[in-house]
Amino acid sequence: MSSLRTPIWSHRLLRKLHRHALAGGLLLSTASAFRPVAAQPTASTVVLRAARVLDGTGRSLTNQDIVVERGRIVAMRPARGPLPAGGIDLGTRTLLPGLIDTHVHLGWYINGHDRMHTDDDGDTPAVSALAHAGNAWATLRAGFTTVQSIGEADNAALRDAIARGGIPGPRVLTSLGSLNERTRGGSPDSLRAVVRRFRQQGADVIKIFASKSIRDGGEATMTPEQLQASCGEATAQGLRSVVHAHSADAAQRAANAGCTQVEHGVFADNATRATLVQHGTFFDPQCGLVFRNYLDNKRWFDGIGNYNAVGFASMEQALPLAEAGIGLAARTPGLKLVFGTDAVAGAHGRNAEELICRVRRGKQDAMDAIVSATSRAAESLRLDKEIGRVSVGFAADLIATDGDPSQEIEASQRVSFVMRQGTVYRNDGARVTISRRAAGVRR
Ligand SMILES: [Zn+2]
Repeated sequence: MSSLRTPIWSHRLLRKLHRHALAGGLLLSTASAFRPVAAQPTASTVVLRAARVLDGTGRSLTNQDIVVERGRIVAMRPARGPLPAGGIDLGTRTLLPGLIDTHVHLGWYINGHDRMHTDDDGDTPAVSALAHAGNAWATLRAGFTTVQSIGEADNAALRDAIARGGIPGPRVLTSLGSLNERTRGGSPDSLRAVVRRFRQQGADVIKIFASKSIRDGGEATMTPEQLQASCGEATAQGLRSVVHAHSADAAQRAANAGCTQVEHGVFADNATRATLVQHGTFFDPQCGLVFRNYLDNKRWFDGIGNYNAVGFASMEQALPLAEAGIGLAARTPGLKLVFGTDAVAGAHGRNAEELICRVRRGKQDAMDAIVSATSRAAESLRLDKEIGRVSVGFAADLIATDGDPSQEIEASQRVSFVMRQGTVYRNDGARVTISRRAAGVRR
C-alpha cells in the first residue's frame, strides 16, 4: 500500500519546483499569458460521415452526417446522398466526442538518459518545454482532446501555447500548483490567501492534498476547517477544488467541505461513497495505468526518491484494491464516477489503457466508461455545455476509432481520426482489418 507514496514524493518535488518558480518570478510572467485567445479553426464547412456515432451521453447512432463549421457542430442528420466536396468519410469507424482525462501531469517526462526528469538532471528549460509539448501531442494523438493537468506553474505556458494554436495538444486546464495542511502555516486565512493567489495567476482549478500517502496509512492531514477554508475559497473565487484523499475520513471531509472532486480514494468504503453521492462530489479513482506504468518501466524511476523495491512491491499489492474500487464505485447509484488516469512520465498517450482496465478488470460497463470520459468528465470540469458530446452547438472535438469501443473497449486504443475545435490533427484511415467483433457487431 505504501506504493502510493511515490506520487506523494513526486508532488513534493513539484511543490519545490513551484517554490523555485515563485522565487524566480516565473509565475508572474506566466500570469500575463492568462486567458488565451482560442486557436482559429478553419472557417469552411466540413461534413463528417460515420457509420456509428457514440454521442457521449450513452446513445449509439448509426449512419450520421455531422456538420462542422468554425470549430463547432452546427448540424447532425442521417447520412444521405453523396458526401459534399471536402467531406470526410470515416467509413466503418465509430465517431465519438474527444476523450477527456481529468487528472494528468503533462510536466512529467522521461529524459534523454532514459530516466524520469527531476529538477537536478541537467535539462534546460527549453528541453523541458519541448518534452511537455511532446506529451501534449502524444495525448492529443491518442484521442484525448481535453485534459486537466494537476500541474506546476509552467503548465500555464503550455496551456496558452496550445490555446493560441502554436503547438498541437489537448485543451489544458491546470491547477498551476497545489496546497496542503502546511502551506503558509496552514491557517484557514493563509490557505484562503493561497487559493486567491492561484486564481490571480490564472489557475483553472485548485488542487489540495488532504491525506497522507498510503505508506503512512493515508489518513487525513487536513482538518475539516482547513478543507472548508480551501474549498470554500475556491468556490467563492468561482473555481473547482480537486482533492487528493486516500482514507475514508479524508474523502468524507472533502465531500462535507463542499470540495468538487475527490481523487484516488483507495480506502473509500460504502459510507464514503454514500457521502460523495449525498454532496454530488465527483470521484476519480484510478484502476491501473499509473501503477502499470511504474511497474513495467522500473528503470525510469528506480532509485529516485521512494521508487525502490519496497515501493514497487507495494504497487503490485495495490493493484487488486484499485481495480475492485472501480467496480464498487461504478455500481454505486448516483455516484459521479469520472475518468482520470493520473498519467505521469511515460504514460502520456497511453491514457486509454485506463479505460480498458476499468472495463476489463474493474467491470465498469463500457458505455458508462466512455460517458465518464466524455459528458460526465465535461460536467466535472464545468464544460458540459461546450465539450463531451456529439451534439449541435458543441465544440467540434471529435475522434474516430477502428471498431466500437462501447462494444469492445480496446477500440479506444485504435484512434485514427482526431479533430479539435474543427481542426483535423490526425486522419490515418482504418489501420486494422475490421473484424465483426471490432466493428461492434454483437456475437
Ligand atoms: Zn496526480
